[in-house]
Amino acid sequence: MYKKIVNFIQNIYNTTDFIPLHEPRFIGNEKKYLNDCIDSTFVSSVGKYVDMFEEQFAVYVGSKYAIATVNGTSALHISLLLSGIQKDDEVITQPLTFIATCNAIDYCGAKPIFIDVDLDTMGLSPKSLKEFLENNCELEDNKCINKTTKNIIKACVPMHTFGHPCRIDEIKDICKKWHVELVEDAAESLGSYYKDKHTGTFGKLGAFSFNGNKIITSGGGGVIVTDDEELAKKAKHLTTTAKIPHPYEYRHDMIGYNYRMPNLNATLLVAQMEQLDKFVANKRDLASKYEEFFSSCEDIDFIKEPKDSKSNYWLQAVILKDKTIRGEFLEYTNKNGVMTRPVWKLMNELEIFKDAQSADLSNSKYLEERVVNITSSVVL
Ligand SMILES: *Cc1c(COP(=O)(O)O)cnc(C)c1O
Repeated sequence: MYKKIVNFIQNIYNTTDFIPLHEPRFIGNEKKYLNDCIDSTFVSSVGKYVDMFEEQFAVYVGSKYAIATVNGTSALHISLLLSGIQKDDEVITQPLTFIATCNAIDYCGAKPIFIDVDLDTMGLSPKSLKEFLENNCELEDNKCINKTTKNIIKACVPMHTFGHPCRIDEIKDICKKWHVELVEDAAESLGSYYKDKHTGTFGKLGAFSFNGNKIITSGGGGVIVTDDEELAKKAKHLTTTAKIPHPYEYRHDMIGYNYRMPNLNATLLVAQMEQLDKFVANKRDLASKYEEFFSSCEDIDFIKEPKDSKSNYWLQAVILKDKTIRGEFLEYTNKNGVMTRPVWKLMNELEIFKDAQSADLSNSKYLEERVVNITSSVVL
């Protein structure tokens, strides 16, 4: 069976050389814009490509404002700060995520609370969220108080795992009722829609990443999206060292961050945005090939996009029904030139978050033991 899988993937990518999990594709205007940028000498924190990208991105996802940052983690960090997160506040998120989600929470001096995911979306479960809030929290002066710690639960950060949208509209309603700010970690879901609305645009703020392994990349990069003009201005201010705009004087009115995306990186993004729809279509096509292939594998289910959504299928994934075969699966594929990778370890199991409050996490655990990512690069 494993041999069949390796052959199938080698066939798709038309090679017997080592096939990485996810390679970027630079097949558009990347070099042209990059050269233009170098020639202009505006390679750093100002320049036309950053502005072009921000405009292009806001239009694409349908948000009013987009603010480019150095990476996705910094986009999340600023989004959380702008949601009013302060030291000792608490932030609800899912344990099945990349570490960046939790790091950003910690950078604010806040603590994560881990709530389970849904099995079909692999993203935060509205049902578990509602249960947790009802059983553990009370509203006091429009603040959501955690009865166990007496701290304020200020925000909730769901993540759209591997590009598959979670039940974000239900989560949004629950957050609203409990006066908890919704910040979306949409790092993986550029090009993914829930009920025809782009992921990352449901919450007050949304964060995306353009790291080398994401659906489009600028080497490193991120962006914050919001419909709130005031927040957009603050995001720009905070990410540019809180410098008061002036032709030559340096004055800063608060502690800011050097989080602005360099113009050099933005050149790649402008070129990559031009190809995004093509990339998404290609990945969706790849997904249907995998779906068909794995439908004949009894022990392995290909993970399809959840109901009511259109996924970018950023990272393709399968569930091994019998968790004890995962070791062999990973061993065989990686040894034979096709890279595969198990899903992240749960955040609540890391030493650094072992004291975090957690709800029942059975779905997360089930997925953590069985999910494997398989080759996902755009097929040339
Ligand atoms: C990639 C990613 C981020 C941001 O990562 P950066 O490397 O800082 O751009 C955040 N959250 C998730 C879930 C991610 O996959």
